[in-house]
Amino acid sequence: MGTLTEQQQKVNTLLKKAPLIISGPCSAETEEQVMQTAIRLAATGKVDIMRAGIWKPRTRPGSFEGIGTKGLPWMQQAKKETGLPIAIEVATGKQVEDALHFDVDVLWIGARTTVNPFSVQEIADALRGVKVPVLIKNPLNPDLELWVGGMERIAKAGIEDLGLIHRGFSSYGNTDFRNAPMWHLAIEMKRRFPGIPMINDPSHICGRRDILQEVAQQAIDLDFDGLIVESHIDPDNAWSDAKQQITPEVLKEMLEAIRWRKDDVANTDFQSHLEKFRQQINQLDDELLQVLATRMKVAQKIGEYKKENDITILQTNRWNEILERAIAKGNKMGLTDDFVTKYMDAVHMESIHHQNKVMNS
Ligand code: PEP
Ligand code: MN
Repeated sequence: MGTLTEQQQKVNTLLKKAPLIISGPCSAETEEQVMQTAIRLAATGKVDIMRAGIWKPRTRPGSFEGIGTKGLPWMQQAKKETGLPIAIEVATGKQVEDALHFDVDVLWIGARTTVNPFSVQEIADALRGVKVPVLIKNPLNPDLELWVGGMERIAKAGIEDLGLIHRGFSSYGNTDFRNAPMWHLAIEMKRRFPGIPMINDPSHICGRRDILQEVAQQAIDLDFDGLIVESHIDPDNAWSDAKQQITPEVLKEMLEAIRWRKDDVANTDFQSHLEKFRQQINQLDDELLQVLATRMKVAQKIGEYKKENDITILQTNRWNEILERAIAKGNKMGLTDDFVTKYMDAVHMESIHHQNKVMNS
């Protein structure tokens, strides 16, 4: 469990609905665009909160950096017209003040801000004494403690209504994703803070439309509490993130196509079947650990032998051979290269650790 108070782990008002659906344009562009998006989103009957970026922290200068404060009354008007609560991103204390002045219902902290404790602290200070739900996006880089720290700073300012957004992690070079999901980090965050809603942002993970639904489904299968999806009345001509936005109507279709799974079932028959499978898994995990412990004992013997003969622990050729052999075997058994590589790497490092102890004792 994390370091939030019990109240913070429990109390979620606007963010409590599950699944929580947040949607709206990457950026507020014009009064007309904001209003039309709001009307069409409300018409889907599937959206709980409308989002829009007012200030856009862009990685590179020269692209659209947000319409600024003049967009806030547009959002306020859209809310009045449709009844949809509104959410915007804040990155400074002044932006928090401006947002609250225009009755913004939910604030979120963007990935480029969560990386910076000074900025998060400035936001936290501006939030002292205020009651507003705050969502914290994961930082750009895969650093779980920064994400935790961001949440702690906001929690310490007295904000009780907290949520997390998983938007993926940036990496160098081309990948299938704009931001790699690294699901295990979001899962670890869910484990540490079980009462805090975890919302998935497939738009910024994918960076493109064709795999949005697949990623959203994966999040729902992993028991996420909701989705934040960028939508636009004219996606191809959006002023930012054009490639990943969809119309409100396409959003509706996507939400209808998603299979919303229950996180648990009272049905005792189902429970007893599941329990049997879980026992099998536990049994297999025990066996795996036993085999690994035996493997490490052999590694220790090798360590002793290398010590006697004054040979280095790491033998790069041998390590290559082990890895190639494991990948080839794993492939035949339906295990991915990526998994086998990570697994063998962990086993190899543990083996080195054991040999190191023997050789340097
Ligand atoms: C956004 O939500 O439009 C945004 C800028 O996201 P992120 O902070 O995840 O990059
Ligand atoms: Mn965006």
